[in-house]
Amino acid sequence: MTAADILLKNASQLITLTGDNTAPRTGEGMRDLGIIPNGDLWISHGQITGLGADDGRRHDAALTIDCSGKVVMPGFVDPHTHLVFAGSRENELGMKLKGHTYMEIQNAGGGIFSTVRKTREATNEQLIAQAMKRLDTMLLHGTTTIEAKSGYGFDRATEIRMLQVAKILNHQHPMDIVSTFMGAHAIPPEFHGREKEFIQSLVDMLPEIAEKKLAEFCDVFCDTGVISLGDAEAVMAAAKAAGLGLKIHADEIENIGASAMAAKMMAVSAEHLLKSSDQDIRAMADSGVIGVLLPGTPYSLMMKEYANARKMIEMGMPVALATDLNPNCWTESMPWVISAACYQMKMMPAEAIVASTINAAHAVNRAKSVGSLEVGKQADVIILDVENYEQIPYHFGVNLVNTVIKKGELAVGGP
Ligand SMILES: [Zn+2]
Repeated sequence: MTAADILLKNASQLITLTGDNTAPRTGEGMRDLGIIPNGDLWISHGQITGLGADDGRRHDAALTIDCSGKVVMPGFVDPHTHLVFAGSRENELGMKLKGHTYMEIQNAGGGIFSTVRKTREATNEQLIAQAMKRLDTMLLHGTTTIEAKSGYGFDRATEIRMLQVAKILNHQHPMDIVSTFMGAHAIPPEFHGREKEFIQSLVDMLPEIAEKKLAEFCDVFCDTGVISLGDAEAVMAAAKAAGLGLKIHADEIENIGASAMAAKMMAVSAEHLLKSSDQDIRAMADSGVIGVLLPGTPYSLMMKEYANARKMIEMGMPVALATDLNPNCWTESMPWVISAACYQMKMMPAEAIVASTINAAHAVNRAKSVGSLEVGKQADVIILDVENYEQIPYHFGVNLVNTVIKKGELAVGGP
Protein backbone atom coordinates (compact mmCIF):
# COMPACT_ATOMS: atom_id res chain seq x y z
CA MET A 1 0.00 0.00 0.00
CA THR A 2 1.29 3.45 -0.86
CA ALA A 3 1.31 6.35 1.57
CA ALA A 4 -2.18 7.54 2.40
CA ASP A 5 -3.36 11.13 2.42
CA ILE A 6 -5.60 10.48 5.42
CA LEU A 7 -5.68 7.66 7.96
CA LEU A 8 -8.76 7.36 10.18
CA LYS A 9 -7.47 5.35 13.08
CA ASN A 10 -9.14 3.04 15.59
CA ALA A 11 -12.83 3.81 15.10
CA SER A 12 -14.90 2.05 17.76
CA GLN A 13 -17.12 0.89 14.87
CA LEU A 14 -16.03 1.15 11.24
CA ILE A 15 -19.35 0.69 9.43
CA THR A 16 -18.25 -0.55 6.02
CA LEU A 17 -21.49 -1.90 4.49
CA THR A 18 -19.30 -4.17 2.40
CA GLY A 19 -20.97 -7.20 0.82
CA ASP A 20 -23.00 -7.75 -2.31
CA ASN A 21 -23.90 -4.21 -3.25
CA THR A 22 -24.77 -4.94 -6.89
CA ALA A 23 -28.47 -4.54 -6.05
CA PRO A 24 -30.27 -2.63 -3.29
CA ARG A 25 -30.43 -4.60 -0.07
CA THR A 26 -33.53 -6.39 1.14
CA GLY A 27 -34.59 -8.42 4.20
CA GLU A 28 -31.64 -9.68 6.25
CA GLY A 29 -29.24 -7.71 4.04
CA MET A 30 -30.76 -4.52 5.44
CA ARG A 31 -29.42 -5.44 8.88
CA ASP A 32 -25.85 -6.30 7.81
CA LEU A 33 -23.61 -3.29 8.40
CA GLY A 34 -20.25 -5.04 7.94
CA ILE A 35 -18.88 -3.57 11.15
CA ILE A 36 -15.14 -3.73 11.86
CA PRO A 37 -14.48 -3.00 15.56
CA ASN A 38 -11.43 -0.81 16.26
CA GLY A 39 -11.17 -0.24 12.52
CA ASP A 40 -8.82 1.87 10.43
CA LEU A 41 -9.54 3.46 7.05
CA TRP A 42 -7.00 4.75 4.54
CA ILE A 43 -7.75 7.41 1.94
CA SER A 44 -5.60 8.44 -1.03
CA HIS A 45 -6.30 10.64 -4.03
CA GLY A 46 -9.96 10.97 -3.14
CA GLN A 47 -10.53 7.23 -2.87
CA ILE A 48 -10.69 4.60 -0.16
CA THR A 49 -7.47 2.61 -0.43
CA GLY A 50 -7.65 0.33 2.58
CA LEU A 51 -9.68 -0.65 5.59
CA GLY A 52 -9.40 -3.15 8.37
CA ALA A 53 -8.90 -3.86 12.02
CA ASP A 54 -5.93 -2.22 13.68
CA ASP A 55 -3.44 -5.06 13.53
CA GLY A 56 -0.36 -2.98 14.15
CA ARG A 57 0.41 -2.36 10.47
CA ARG A 58 2.32 0.83 9.89
CA HIS A 59 1.37 3.16 7.09
CA ASP A 60 2.46 6.69 6.53
CA ALA A 61 -0.30 9.19 6.18
CA ALA A 62 -0.09 12.95 5.72
CA LEU A 63 -2.92 13.28 8.24
CA THR A 64 -3.94 10.79 10.93
CA ILE A 65 -7.23 11.29 12.77
CA ASP A 66 -7.76 9.42 16.02
CA CYS A 67 -11.31 8.00 15.87
CA SER A 68 -11.26 6.28 19.27
CA GLY A 69 -14.76 6.13 20.76
CA LYS A 70 -16.32 7.27 17.47
CA VAL A 71 -18.23 5.72 14.58
CA VAL A 72 -16.81 6.01 11.06
CA MET A 73 -19.23 5.34 8.22
CA PRO A 74 -20.10 6.33 4.63
CA GLY A 75 -21.55 9.82 4.16
CA PHE A 76 -25.35 9.83 4.07
CA VAL A 77 -27.10 9.84 0.69
CA ASP A 78 -30.36 11.83 0.64
CA PRO A 79 -32.27 10.48 -2.39
CA HIS A 80 -35.30 12.81 -2.31
CA THR A 81 -35.02 16.58 -1.93
CA HIS A 82 -36.63 19.62 -3.52
CA LEU A 83 -33.40 21.57 -2.98
CA VAL A 84 -33.96 24.56 -5.26
CA PHE A 85 -36.79 26.90 -4.24
CA ALA A 86 -37.24 30.48 -3.07
CA GLY A 87 -38.73 31.73 0.19
CA SER A 88 -40.21 29.84 3.11
CA ARG A 89 -43.71 29.02 4.40
CA GLU A 90 -43.55 29.09 8.18
CA ASN A 91 -46.86 31.01 8.16
CA GLU A 92 -48.59 27.76 7.15
CA LEU A 93 -47.65 26.11 10.44
CA GLY A 94 -50.34 28.16 12.18
CA MET A 95 -52.88 27.16 9.52
CA LYS A 96 -52.00 23.50 9.99
CA LEU A 97 -52.36 23.92 13.76
CA LYS A 98 -55.87 25.23 13.17
CA GLY A 99 -56.65 21.98 11.34
CA HIS A 100 -56.32 22.97 7.69
CA THR A 101 -55.11 20.20 5.37
CA TYR A 102 -52.34 20.44 2.75
CA MET A 103 -54.94 20.60 -0.01
CA GLU A 104 -56.97 23.31 1.78
CA ILE A 105 -53.85 25.47 2.22
CA GLN A 106 -53.00 24.92 -1.44
CA ASN A 107 -56.51 25.82 -2.60
CA ALA A 108 -56.29 29.05 -0.56
CA GLY A 109 -53.28 30.14 -2.65
CA GLY A 110 -50.66 28.91 -0.21
CA GLY A 111 -48.65 25.75 -0.40
CA ILE A 112 -46.84 24.88 -3.58
CA PHE A 113 -48.32 27.81 -5.54
CA SER A 114 -46.80 30.44 -3.26
CA THR A 115 -43.41 28.73 -3.63
CA VAL A 116 -43.87 28.73 -7.41
CA ARG A 117 -44.55 32.49 -7.38
CA LYS A 118 -41.44 33.21 -5.30
CA THR A 119 -39.27 30.83 -7.33
CA ARG A 120 -40.33 32.41 -10.63
CA GLU A 121 -39.52 35.89 -9.24
CA ALA A 122 -36.09 34.89 -7.87
CA THR A 123 -32.95 35.43 -9.91
CA ASN A 124 -30.55 32.54 -10.50
CA GLU A 125 -28.14 34.17 -8.04
CA GLN A 126 -30.85 34.26 -5.36
CA LEU A 127 -31.80 30.63 -5.98
CA ILE A 128 -28.15 29.60 -5.82
CA ALA A 129 -27.49 31.53 -2.58
CA GLN A 130 -30.54 30.06 -0.82
CA ALA A 131 -29.82 26.48 -1.94
CA MET A 132 -26.12 26.85 -1.08
CA LYS A 133 -27.05 27.49 2.56
CA ARG A 134 -29.15 24.30 2.61
CA LEU A 135 -26.27 22.32 1.09
CA ASP A 136 -23.90 23.63 3.78
CA THR A 137 -26.35 22.48 6.47
CA MET A 138 -26.67 19.06 4.85
CA LEU A 139 -22.91 18.64 4.74
CA LEU A 140 -22.62 19.67 8.41
CA HIS A 141 -25.08 16.86 9.25
CA GLY A 142 -23.14 14.25 7.28
CA THR A 143 -24.90 14.16 3.90
CA THR A 144 -22.45 13.92 0.99
CA THR A 145 -24.71 13.05 -1.99
CA ILE A 146 -28.25 14.20 -2.71
CA GLU A 147 -30.93 14.06 -5.34
CA ALA A 148 -32.55 17.42 -6.23
CA LYS A 149 -35.87 17.81 -8.04
CA SER A 150 -37.15 20.72 -10.09
CA GLY A 151 -40.90 21.36 -9.92
CA TYR A 152 -41.53 24.89 -8.67
CA GLY A 153 -41.52 26.42 -12.14
CA PHE A 154 -44.76 25.23 -13.75
CA ASP A 155 -43.40 26.74 -16.94
CA ARG A 156 -40.66 25.71 -19.29
CA ALA A 157 -38.31 28.62 -18.57
CA THR A 158 -38.36 28.29 -14.77
CA GLU A 159 -38.12 24.50 -14.83
CA ILE A 160 -35.04 24.65 -17.07
CA ARG A 161 -33.59 27.40 -14.85
CA MET A 162 -34.06 25.23 -11.72
CA LEU A 163 -32.22 22.34 -13.39
CA GLN A 164 -29.44 24.68 -14.50
CA VAL A 165 -29.13 26.06 -10.96
CA ALA A 166 -28.78 22.50 -9.59
CA LYS A 167 -26.06 21.85 -12.16
CA ILE A 168 -24.17 25.02 -11.13
CA LEU A 169 -24.50 24.03 -7.44
CA ASN A 170 -23.12 20.58 -8.25
CA HIS A 171 -19.98 22.29 -9.60
CA GLN A 172 -19.68 25.01 -6.96
CA HIS A 173 -20.43 23.00 -3.80
CA PRO A 174 -18.65 19.87 -2.49
CA MET A 175 -22.03 18.04 -2.46
CA ASP A 176 -22.71 15.61 -5.31
CA ILE A 177 -26.12 16.50 -6.73
CA VAL A 178 -28.16 14.14 -8.91
CA SER A 179 -30.87 16.04 -10.79
CA THR A 180 -34.47 15.00 -11.36
CA PHE A 181 -36.98 16.77 -13.61
CA MET A 182 -40.29 17.07 -11.79
CA GLY A 183 -42.34 19.37 -13.97
CA ALA A 184 -45.32 17.14 -13.08
CA HIS A 185 -45.52 18.42 -9.49
CA ALA A 186 -49.13 19.67 -9.73
CA ILE A 187 -51.50 21.04 -12.38
CA PRO A 188 -51.02 24.85 -12.44
CA PRO A 189 -54.33 26.71 -11.89
CA GLU A 190 -54.14 28.31 -15.35
CA PHE A 191 -54.28 24.81 -16.88
CA HIS A 192 -57.36 23.57 -15.03
CA GLY A 193 -59.65 22.05 -17.66
CA ARG A 194 -56.67 21.93 -20.04
CA GLU A 195 -54.65 19.27 -18.17
CA LYS A 196 -53.70 17.42 -21.35
CA GLU A 197 -52.09 20.59 -22.75
CA PHE A 198 -49.96 20.97 -19.63
CA ILE A 199 -48.93 17.29 -19.72
CA GLN A 200 -48.01 17.65 -23.40
CA SER A 201 -45.85 20.70 -22.59
CA LEU A 202 -43.89 18.53 -20.11
CA VAL A 203 -43.55 15.68 -22.58
CA ASP A 204 -42.21 18.16 -25.14
CA MET A 205 -39.47 19.28 -22.72
CA LEU A 206 -38.09 15.79 -22.05
CA PRO A 207 -35.87 15.27 -25.12
CA GLU A 208 -34.07 18.61 -24.52
CA ILE A 209 -33.60 17.84 -20.79
CA ALA A 210 -32.12 14.43 -21.60
CA GLU A 211 -29.97 15.72 -24.46
CA LYS A 212 -28.47 18.58 -22.43
CA LYS A 213 -28.03 16.24 -19.46
CA LEU A 214 -30.03 18.60 -17.24
CA ALA A 215 -31.51 15.62 -15.34
CA GLU A 216 -30.95 11.89 -14.94
CA PHE A 217 -34.42 11.10 -13.58
CA CYS A 218 -38.02 12.15 -14.10
CA ASP A 219 -40.49 12.22 -11.20
CA VAL A 220 -44.28 12.66 -11.18
CA PHE A 221 -46.56 13.50 -8.22
CA CYS A 222 -49.31 11.00 -9.05
CA ASP A 223 -52.19 11.38 -6.60
CA THR A 224 -55.76 12.56 -6.10
CA GLY A 225 -56.03 16.25 -7.02
CA VAL A 226 -52.50 16.30 -8.45
CA ILE A 227 -51.48 14.34 -11.60
CA SER A 228 -53.87 11.58 -12.70
CA LEU A 229 -52.70 8.02 -13.27
CA GLY A 230 -53.14 8.28 -17.04
CA ASP A 231 -51.26 11.59 -17.27
CA ALA A 232 -48.49 10.27 -15.01
CA GLU A 233 -48.08 7.23 -17.23
CA ALA A 234 -47.82 9.46 -20.32
CA VAL A 235 -45.04 11.56 -18.75
CA MET A 236 -43.19 8.50 -17.46
CA ALA A 237 -43.39 6.68 -20.81
CA ALA A 238 -41.97 9.76 -22.56
CA ALA A 239 -39.23 10.10 -19.92
CA LYS A 240 -38.27 6.47 -20.36
CA ALA A 241 -38.15 6.91 -24.13
CA ALA A 242 -35.85 9.92 -23.63
CA GLY A 243 -33.52 7.76 -21.54
CA LEU A 244 -34.32 9.14 -18.08
CA GLY A 245 -34.70 6.96 -15.00
CA LEU A 246 -38.15 6.93 -13.39
CA LYS A 247 -39.29 8.04 -9.96
CA ILE A 248 -42.82 8.65 -8.69
CA HIS A 249 -44.49 10.29 -5.68
CA ALA A 250 -46.96 7.48 -5.02
CA ASP A 251 -49.75 6.55 -2.58
CA GLU A 252 -49.18 9.62 -0.42
CA ILE A 253 -52.67 11.17 -0.12
CA GLU A 254 -54.68 8.32 -1.62
CA ASN A 255 -53.92 5.08 -3.43
CA ILE A 256 -54.92 5.68 -7.07
CA GLY A 257 -52.65 2.94 -8.41
CA ALA A 258 -49.40 4.92 -8.58
CA SER A 259 -47.11 2.39 -6.91
CA ALA A 260 -48.60 -0.45 -8.97
CA MET A 261 -47.73 1.59 -12.06
CA ALA A 262 -44.20 2.19 -10.70
CA ALA A 263 -43.79 -1.60 -10.56
CA LYS A 264 -45.23 -2.04 -14.04
CA MET A 265 -42.93 0.63 -15.52
CA MET A 266 -39.87 -0.64 -13.62
CA ALA A 267 -39.33 2.70 -11.89
CA VAL A 268 -36.07 2.98 -9.97
CA SER A 269 -37.98 4.20 -6.92
CA ALA A 270 -41.42 5.04 -5.57
CA GLU A 271 -41.60 7.66 -2.84
CA HIS A 272 -43.85 8.23 0.23
CA LEU A 273 -46.01 5.03 0.00
CA LEU A 274 -48.24 5.77 2.99
CA LYS A 275 -51.27 4.08 1.43
CA SER A 276 -49.66 1.18 -0.44
CA SER A 277 -51.50 -2.16 -0.23
CA ASP A 278 -49.91 -5.57 0.30
CA GLN A 279 -50.44 -6.25 -3.39
CA ASP A 280 -48.61 -3.03 -4.31
CA ILE A 281 -45.72 -3.88 -2.02
CA ARG A 282 -45.49 -7.38 -3.53
CA ALA A 283 -45.46 -5.90 -7.06
CA MET A 284 -42.76 -3.35 -6.16
CA ALA A 285 -40.65 -6.01 -4.42
CA ASP A 286 -40.92 -8.25 -7.52
CA SER A 287 -39.85 -5.36 -9.81
CA GLY A 288 -37.01 -4.24 -7.53
CA VAL A 289 -38.57 -0.80 -7.03
CA ILE A 290 -36.89 0.96 -4.09
CA GLY A 291 -39.33 2.44 -1.58
CA VAL A 292 -37.99 5.89 -0.65
CA LEU A 293 -39.66 6.63 2.68
CA LEU A 294 -39.92 10.18 4.03
CA PRO A 295 -40.98 10.30 7.68
CA GLY A 296 -40.48 14.07 7.77
CA THR A 297 -43.49 14.51 5.50
CA PRO A 298 -46.26 13.01 7.71
CA TYR A 299 -44.47 14.64 10.67
CA SER A 300 -44.70 18.12 9.13
CA LEU A 301 -48.25 17.45 7.91
CA MET A 302 -49.17 16.43 11.47
CA MET A 303 -50.42 13.05 10.33
CA LYS A 304 -50.63 9.98 12.53
CA GLU A 305 -49.93 7.64 9.65
CA TYR A 306 -46.45 6.69 8.43
CA ALA A 307 -45.35 4.34 5.64
CA ASN A 308 -45.41 0.68 6.66
CA ALA A 309 -41.66 0.12 6.50
CA ARG A 310 -41.84 -3.09 8.55
CA LYS A 311 -44.17 -4.76 6.08
CA MET A 312 -42.08 -3.58 3.11
CA ILE A 313 -38.88 -5.00 4.60
CA GLU A 314 -40.61 -8.24 5.60
CA MET A 315 -42.01 -8.62 2.06
CA GLY A 316 -38.53 -8.23 0.54
CA MET A 317 -38.82 -4.71 -0.79
CA PRO A 318 -35.67 -2.54 -0.69
CA VAL A 319 -36.19 0.55 1.44
CA ALA A 320 -34.32 3.87 1.42
CA LEU A 321 -34.80 6.99 3.54
CA ALA A 322 -34.73 10.67 2.58
CA THR A 323 -35.53 14.10 4.00
CA ASP A 324 -38.01 15.34 1.34
CA LEU A 325 -36.46 18.76 2.06
CA ASN A 326 -38.98 21.29 0.71
CA PRO A 327 -40.73 24.44 1.99
CA ASN A 328 -43.47 22.28 3.57
CA CYS A 329 -41.05 19.85 5.27
CA TRP A 330 -37.86 21.66 6.04
CA THR A 331 -35.09 19.51 7.36
CA GLU A 332 -31.62 18.88 5.98
CA SER A 333 -30.82 16.27 8.63
CA MET A 334 -30.54 12.60 7.68
CA PRO A 335 -29.74 11.65 11.32
CA TRP A 336 -33.12 13.14 12.30
CA VAL A 337 -34.78 11.11 9.51
CA ILE A 338 -33.03 7.95 10.79
CA SER A 339 -34.38 8.66 14.26
CA ALA A 340 -37.92 9.28 12.96
CA ALA A 341 -37.71 6.07 10.90
CA CYS A 342 -36.94 4.08 14.05
CA TYR A 343 -39.37 5.79 16.42
CA GLN A 344 -42.29 6.25 13.98
CA MET A 345 -41.85 3.48 11.39
CA LYS A 346 -40.31 0.81 13.64
CA MET A 347 -37.24 0.39 11.47
CA MET A 348 -34.30 -1.19 13.27
CA PRO A 349 -31.32 1.17 13.62
CA ALA A 350 -29.24 -1.03 11.26
CA GLU A 351 -32.02 -0.98 8.65
CA ALA A 352 -32.25 2.80 8.86
CA ILE A 353 -28.47 3.08 8.32
CA VAL A 354 -28.60 0.83 5.22
CA ALA A 355 -31.61 2.83 3.98
CA SER A 356 -29.63 6.09 4.32
CA THR A 357 -26.42 4.91 2.68
CA ILE A 358 -26.15 2.05 0.18
CA ASN A 359 -29.87 1.69 -0.62
CA ALA A 360 -30.17 5.46 -0.98
CA ALA A 361 -27.15 5.38 -3.32
CA HIS A 362 -28.95 2.77 -5.45
CA ALA A 363 -32.01 5.04 -5.58
CA VAL A 364 -29.91 7.74 -7.29
CA ASN A 365 -27.79 5.37 -9.40
CA ARG A 366 -24.58 6.06 -7.46
CA ALA A 367 -24.09 2.72 -5.68
CA LYS A 368 -20.95 1.98 -7.69
CA SER A 369 -19.18 5.05 -6.27
CA VAL A 370 -20.72 5.85 -2.84
CA GLY A 371 -22.92 4.42 -0.06
CA SER A 372 -20.39 1.97 1.43
CA LEU A 373 -16.74 1.98 2.50
CA GLU A 374 -14.99 -0.26 -0.01
CA VAL A 375 -11.54 -0.04 -1.62
CA GLY A 376 -11.80 1.94 -4.85
CA LYS A 377 -14.93 3.83 -3.88
CA GLN A 378 -15.05 7.61 -3.58
CA ALA A 379 -13.87 8.66 -0.10
CA ASP A 380 -17.11 10.17 1.23
CA VAL A 381 -16.67 9.36 4.90
CA ILE A 382 -18.10 10.78 8.12
CA ILE A 383 -17.02 10.55 11.74
CA LEU A 384 -19.77 10.68 14.39
CA ASP A 385 -19.26 11.42 18.04
CA VAL A 386 -21.02 8.23 19.17
CA GLU A 387 -19.56 4.91 20.31
CA ASN A 388 -21.95 2.76 18.28
CA TYR A 389 -24.45 3.21 15.46
CA GLU A 390 -27.49 2.58 17.68
CA GLN A 391 -26.82 5.93 19.33
CA ILE A 392 -27.49 7.72 16.01
CA PRO A 393 -31.32 7.37 16.21
CA TYR A 394 -31.29 7.17 20.01
CA HIS A 395 -29.56 10.52 20.60
CA PHE A 396 -31.78 12.70 18.45
CA GLY A 397 -32.21 16.40 17.74
CA VAL A 398 -28.53 17.32 18.00
CA ASN A 399 -25.74 17.12 15.47
CA LEU A 400 -23.58 14.07 16.19
CA VAL A 401 -21.45 14.52 13.06
CA ASN A 402 -17.94 15.54 13.98
CA THR A 403 -16.02 15.38 10.68
CA VAL A 404 -16.99 15.08 7.02
CA ILE A 405 -14.54 13.95 4.35
CA LYS A 406 -15.79 14.56 0.82
CA LYS A 407 -13.88 13.01 -2.11
CA GLY A 408 -10.91 12.56 0.18
CA GLU A 409 -10.86 16.21 1.35
CA LEU A 410 -11.78 17.49 4.80
CA ALA A 411 -15.05 19.36 4.28
CA VAL A 412 -16.23 19.71 7.90
CA GLY A 413 -14.21 19.49 11.12
CA GLY A 414 -10.72 18.17 11.42
CA PRO A 415 -8.29 16.33 13.63
ZN1 LIG B 1 -41.18 15.20 -2.59
